[in-house]
Amino acid sequence: MSERYSRQISIIGEEGQKKLRNSKVVVTGIGGLGSVASYYLAAAGVGYLRIIDYDVVEISNLNRQILHWTNDIGRPKVESAAMKLSLLNPETRIDPINEKISEDNVDELLKGMDVIIDGQDNLRTRMIINEFAVRSCRPYVYGAVYGMEGFLMTIIPGAGPCLRCLYPYEPKIKDFIPVLGTTPGVIGCLEATEAIKIITGVGKPSVGRLIIYDGENMSFHEVCIARNSQCYVCKKI
Ligand SMILES: [Zn+2]
Repeated sequence: MSERYSRQISIIGEEGQKKLRNSKVVVTGIGGLGSVASYYLAAAGVGYLRIIDYDVVEISNLNRQILHWTNDIGRPKVESAAMKLSLLNPETRIDPINEKISEDNVDELLKGMDVIIDGQDNLRTRMIINEFAVRSCRPYVYGAVYGMEGFLMTIIPGAGPCLRCLYPYEPKIKDFIPVLGTTPGVIGCLEATEAIKIITGVGKPSVGRLIIYDGENMSFHEVCIARNSQCYVCKKI
């Protein structure tokens, strides 16, 4: 196996590395969370990485969306990200898709993936992705940020709660989300860690445990989340 992965093979084994090479991961949004998650997934040797976004790079993105640089302003985010990720690891096949995820195209965009990574900035699209994950029985790593606070929970349909169990009602959406750049850095990195664990079978993913990162006081804590027996998304599985 390539020397590139020698530091991690002692943890996940040759077999784990092979599983990463044969895996397909989709990162749904290549902003703050998605930049970091996709960087570490490509670096770890995930064989196929699909990245989906429909936005172009703006200057206000650059405090946190680390795959996009000043000379990328105005460029489609997937194009900017694909270039950096291919340079980082030519062994990873990058599949950039310049589209907005909706109910109409979610099946086509996400089908066949081993793990789905949250790179969204709104709960509405997250719920569309969650419903796809549940009906197709695919692991979905939820991550979100606000200010200096971040959230993470891994959804493995049938094994624990889904995102709708966690948020039965849509909270009010604010137009402007303040974000210290390091917050999606922390959460995106945790999302990639969860994906690597799911693929290799090493460790225990945070199923049914909402991890809350508080950057202001530098603490992590977790809240146990039970399945909602009335959840219209996952009650049948
Ligand atoms: Zn549910």
